[in-house]
Amino acid sequence: MYLHGTMEINASGHLEIGGVDTVELANVYRTPLFVYDVALIKERMNAFKDAFEKKQVAYQVAYASKAFSTVGMYQLAHSAGLSIDVVSGGELFTALKAGVPASTIHFHGNNKSIDELKMALDEQIGCIVVDNFYELKTIQTLAEERGQTVPVLLRLTPNVEAHTHEYITTGQEDSKFGFDLASGQATKAIGICIADEYLHLLGVHSHIGSQIFETDGFVLAIEKVFENLALWKQTFNYEPAVLNFGGGFGIRYVDGDTPLHPSVYVEKIVEETIKHTTKLEMNMPEIWIEPGRSIVGDAGTTLYTIGSQKDIPNVRRYLSVDGGMGDNLRPALYEAKYEGMLANRANVKPEDTFSVAGKCCESGDMLIWDLPLPDVTANDILAISCTGAYGYSMANNYNRIPRPAIVFVEDGEAQLVVKRETYEDLVKLDLPYQQKAVAPFEN
Ligand SMILES: *Cc1c(COP(=O)(O)O)cnc(C)c1O
Repeated sequence: MYLHGTMEINASGHLEIGGVDTVELANVYRTPLFVYDVALIKERMNAFKDAFEKKQVAYQVAYASKAFSTVGMYQLAHSAGLSIDVVSGGELFTALKAGVPASTIHFHGNNKSIDELKMALDEQIGCIVVDNFYELKTIQTLAEERGQTVPVLLRLTPNVEAHTHEYITTGQEDSKFGFDLASGQATKAIGICIADEYLHLLGVHSHIGSQIFETDGFVLAIEKVFENLALWKQTFNYEPAVLNFGGGFGIRYVDGDTPLHPSVYVEKIVEETIKHTTKLEMNMPEIWIEPGRSIVGDAGTTLYTIGSQKDIPNVRRYLSVDGGMGDNLRPALYEAKYEGMLANRANVKPEDTFSVAGKCCESGDMLIWDLPLPDVTANDILAISCTGAYGYSMANNYNRIPRPAIVFVEDGEAQLVVKRETYEDLVKLDLPYQQKAVAPFEN
């Protein structure tokens, strides 16, 4: 396993994160347990911000909170000066509960409900990123009823799609998100916003994908957006105050993943924006980005206790852990790859290759297919790294397995930020079946 952030192997041969012994964490808080390296999260947030500061442009770094959404994380992001992206009423509620000012919250999503939109308007959040005509109409109606000005960004479909190592430019963009540029839908939506008395069109938004290791896709998307901004300048005399180029900056999960430093993405985005605005003689807009995974992904490590093993001679050695697809759905959902190590015998050399199985009743509940480890025994602690994004946020209760606890570690101290779910929590919403007094089919 690749040691990164504050990870170290201490004198007892244990994996240490944030100056805290992970074996002790497993003893105190039990397993499965998410451990977040707070220093690494802060380093990433600052790296994005510093890159903008160096370029001396107006900006916002918004934490795309769907990657990892808890009260503590919202507080950490807000205290670092980040804005917050939410994609549901639940995330919005959690952010507000954490004390994040509504004015720094942006609301995304392709099917926001009326109740969610009303909540956003009640709270007067920073902006709504409008995704489609149905939503646009709904917001227009609500804003007019209330006589309330609503700041909005329009989400564009830039016809550029990132597939990690390559980009495809699709002629006819097939995406559930955003207003299509090629067919003129985006131009129509811009026109509607400009004409509306209550909509305050801050600018436009694009997001091209996730786990991106190059800047080419952003360059392409920016070019597409500016082709259209040129048109809108002519047609509507419109210039955006904000251009939001989304998130998707990659992280290293396993060997072969080659992310760029946050500053490289930011510098390229800023340079391209300056280039195009200069050419079109437009005012330089504020630039917003929305990193999620690259802020929390490799800062998270999951600790598991190893239980049963099954050796199939000449085929495979399975070992099972006390979690799985309930706390990390990504391998089952899209064959995501991870690295791991024994946290309690971190110095011992690997001897064999093991397949790490979860405890759920699904053959697909495998966390890692090929992991080199020393000879393991029951009660060894397995650490799987880079589980900080889309892990806990996708956690579920399949097989009625309670969701893990979460600790933040920093400067030698651990802080519980999410409690372990209990069996009582699991039945909290269940109601008893009321047996009818008279049997209905009696005769
Ligand atoms: C998911 C998402 C992000 C964050 O993506 P990451 O890959 O986690 O950086 C940013 N913006 C939008 C609109 C998203 O949907």
